[in-house]
Amino acid sequence: MRIRPTGLLIVIATCVLMPAQVGLARTMVSGLDDATLTVPGGTTDFPPGYEDYHTYAEMMADITAIAAAHPDIVAVSSIGLSYEGREIPIVKISDNVNVDENEPEILIDGLHHAREHLATEQALEIISMLVDGYGTNPRITRLVDTRVWWIIPMVNPDGSEWDIHGGHFHRWRKNRQPNGPGQPIGTDLNRNYSFDWGCCSGSSGHPGSEYYRGPAPFSAPETQDVRDFVESRVIGGKQQITVHLTFHSTGEEVLWPWAHTSATTGEGMTRDDHRVFVALGTAMAQRNGYTAEQSDKLYPTDGDEIDWMFGAQGIFSFTIELYPKGGGGSNRWYTPESLIGPETTRNNSAVLYLASKADCPWKVIGKAAQYCG
Ligand code: CA
Ligand code: ZN
Repeated sequence: MRIRPTGLLIVIATCVLMPAQVGLARTMVSGLDDATLTVPGGTTDFPPGYEDYHTYAEMMADITAIAAAHPDIVAVSSIGLSYEGREIPIVKISDNVNVDENEPEILIDGLHHAREHLATEQALEIISMLVDGYGTNPRITRLVDTRVWWIIPMVNPDGSEWDIHGGHFHRWRKNRQPNGPGQPIGTDLNRNYSFDWGCCSGSSGHPGSEYYRGPAPFSAPETQDVRDFVESRVIGGKQQITVHLTFHSTGEEVLWPWAHTSATTGEGMTRDDHRVFVALGTAMAQRNGYTAEQSDKLYPTDGDEIDWMFGAQGIFSFTIELYPKGGGGSNRWYTPESLIGPETTRNNSAVLYLASKADCPWKVIGKAAQYCG
């Protein structure tokens, strides 16, 4: 297989940046273990009864420990900083993990929305599934050896920490980026991507809205970081990432583009592309028992990540809305910790299925020769 030059990754070695108060210099501390990661307000853990969820510091410690225990297949690096200066880590899993091999790539992310904490747990469960299954489960071993997995467990660390500060939940959704004097804080990161940004009444132009799209496409550091990472995977003019999952909650849905329109084709989506989305999405939903449909059908959104992933990068990209099903009331994001295991492992089969199609997604409609020959 072709070996690419290394150097695209900036590995988090022995330091992590402390979240900075606005206007203060960021302080480098040595070692994750003794780093005290706090936000103003002094977050230490999730509220009582939810401590099994991972805080930012616990997530960082866990993935760093997993990489240290499995250096042959796991590497942790950063896609950049959040608004408040936290590193946003990305976990790479593959054989020969320190080599940029020419293998199909799958990207998984969680927690664009701060209060959807189960999404981070889902990403961490996928990491555990791959690491634990490697060398023991033949299917997982093959999908680690023949794929490159990129997993971003917490796209919005500032929002996540804010949501749990002070010992209770705050139902916070956006990031923590100010919008100017006297204005409410935060941008909805999943309305801030550039593809048809703000086009279609699927977001808000008002900073006070939960769905505020920001003053411009990619105005949020967190979406810039995702964009820059994904664009860095264009090698020799070809995007290496072929499939993508972004985890949200709630609703138990598997959603595909377009999110901003009910049109099934156009803007670069061919009839065959649409058929691939339907086939992959339906097959995943058969495995986790969720509802499969075009994202727009749930409700229209614009500036959505999956529209950018496909529209700008040609990646077969899905939103998975986790447990519970629709309805559920104003605390529906705060799933009891006893359900973290059952409701994340529930998706493992769907994730492995999608990864198995990453070499040529068009093979699910019988057109591998035409598109991937
Ligand atoms: Ca590899
Ligand atoms: Zn969400």
